[in-house]
Amino acid sequence: MLIDLITAFPGSFSGIFGESMLRRAQEKGLLQLRITDLRDFSRDKHRRVDDAPYGGGAGMVMRAEPFFLAVEALAVAKDDPGTRIILLSPGGKIFNQRKAQELSTLNHLVLLCGHYEGIDERVALYLAQERISIGDYVLTGGEIAAMVIVDAVTRLLPGLLSGPSLEEESFTDGMLEYPQYTRPYNFRGMLVPDVLLSGNHAEIKKWRRRQALEQTKLYRPDLVNGRGNTPLAKENNLGRSEE
Ligand code: SAM
Repeated sequence: MLIDLITAFPGSFSGIFGESMLRRAQEKGLLQLRITDLRDFSRDKHRRVDDAPYGGGAGMVMRAEPFFLAVEALAVAKDDPGTRIILLSPGGKIFNQRKAQELSTLNHLVLLCGHYEGIDERVALYLAQERISIGDYVLTGGEIAAMVIVDAVTRLLPGLLSGPSLEEESFTDGMLEYPQYTRPYNFRGMLVPDVLLSGNHAEIKKWRRRQALEQTKLYRPDLVNGRGNTPLAKENNLGRSEE
């Protein structure tokens, strides 16, 4: 997968892309990350990419032209169904694991990062194919949102993580994951549940499924009460009724 990041603050990405899973994905040839400095596409002699908002108001707005020029220079195959141009925006559709799974099947993502008061709306209307938000709060820029998407999508790329670790993760079947423990058995008097040491795989599986449901009910009741309909929720009559 190729992921293009278009940003006026390219230095934001140093560090995170050279560590852990993102580094491994690049070393394995599964992922190519390309960062484009939006200021290289400014016609302004001071390399500015923002201007005052039409109609007045606080702050500065990012101009449309540098975004269009940057995407054109990257020769993005807009009509290719494997390509997606995404605008990071607090007004976008909320990102979740299902969206990460969908994006992980594509081969080229172009992430447009805003800053300041936001971006000239023509970028959303005529350049981006989708708007994504990472949550109902306002960040200083789209760079952190882009990092979240790159990370969540990359770990789903085939060939990076083994199947079972992805299958059992939180949200994969609409529930949180079961609790995990590792050595020592007794840490300052806090013990590991005995069933995990029993060697009885059927019992362990049952315990984990029960725990996953308990954790979900406790910490994310919305997953079981409104939108859940997970296999376990149905089994326990907790899911939404299907009409
Ligand atoms: N004035 C805008 C508003 O009220 O919606 C907020 C602009 S924000 C300070 C600057 C940029 O950060 C946005 O253009 C967007 O690219 C990015 N951003 C901020 N919050 C975000 C979020 N929750 N999800 C994705 N991107 C976000």
